[in-house]
Amino acid sequence: ASKRESRNTFNFYSAEMKVTALRHMALEKGLRNAIARNELSIHYQPQLDIRSDKVSGAEALLRWQSSELGSVSPVEFIAVAEETGLIYSIGEWVLRTACTQVKSWRDTGMYLPKIAVNVSVKQFSHVGFVALVQQVLEESGLEPEVLELEITESVLMKDGDQAFTTLNALKALGVQLAIDDFGTGYSNLAYLKRFPIDKLKIDRAFISAEQANKENQAIVTAIIAMADSLDMSVTAEGVETKGQLDFLKLQQCDDVQGFLLSRPLPVQNAGDFLLSHGKAANDAKDSSDT
Ligand code: C2E
Ligand code: MG
Ligand code: MG
Ligand code: MG
Repeated sequence: ASKRESRNTFNFYSAEMKVTALRHMALEKGLRNAIARNELSIHYQPQLDIRSDKVSGAEALLRWQSSELGSVSPVEFIAVAEETGLIYSIGEWVLRTACTQVKSWRDTGMYLPKIAVNVSVKQFSHVGFVALVQQVLEESGLEPEVLELEITESVLMKDGDQAFTTLNALKALGVQLAIDDFGTGYSNLAYLKRFPIDKLKIDRAFISAEQANKENQAIVTAIIAMADSLDMSVTAEGVETKGQLDFLKLQQCDDVQGFLLSRPLPVQNAGDFLLSHGKAANDAKDSSDT
């Protein structure tokens, strides 16, 4: 039995590996042409300032509608883009497209004080990254303080000294810096303190309804207190229920992002969302002016 079993196990693994390898090849092949074929787009997910109840920004989230593979999750294709180096051109496309879009929204009078763009580890570590950000800001005409770059804790862990230099160069440009998926890595207060970070985004694993428990709530409370002592603001990701929002409000969390407010929206719908919410914000401002 054992001989047959091990042979089956071997076959099972090799078949699985083959499927994975084929999928990887297909993704790589498709991604190489994705920009040229116009298959990439950006969805924008609004964020809310809990205290003022106004839109405080939006996060740019990449979408890929492949002609051969259909819709592919960024969780899957960003990893392939990282491994193959395609992330450089894709990341540049996201940065340029998002900055240009937000500049044009703001030029037409829409209220959107911030656009968050995700930056992968490899992209961040590239020698030309700071120059690229500067170039995109100049070309798009977007005010630097409107751009927020989201990096993960792994960027800080990989090469702390290099990250320190790059982050300071980015701060010198005037952009905002946020740590994404905070709480899933291993950075502690003492370590974080040396970096010029403006914001922590609490990972949605600590927020989500399925995992709502005392332990996660204690973690959220601790992160907010820690951020406060470091003069950083806090955004909670993955807020889906009113109960979660109430808890975060009580804890004095600054901003929320999640399905409760809005799903990530295609550009047209995002514009509509901002138009209606910006109008409400302007109305409130007008009435307080008079
Ligand atoms: P992320 O940066 O942490 O983005 C938040 C993710 O949570 C998004 O998934 C968003 O759709 C999802 N989300 C937002 N609100 C809720 C909610 O209330 N409930 C639940 N269950 N999910 C919510 P998405 O768009 O699939 O992106 C996944 C990840 O892919 C992102 O996580 C980010 O790490 C990466 N990614 C997306 N776009 C880019 C990009 O342009 N560049 C890079 N480097 N990575 C990107
Ligand atoms: Mg993000
Ligand atoms: Mg996140
Ligand atoms: Mg605070």
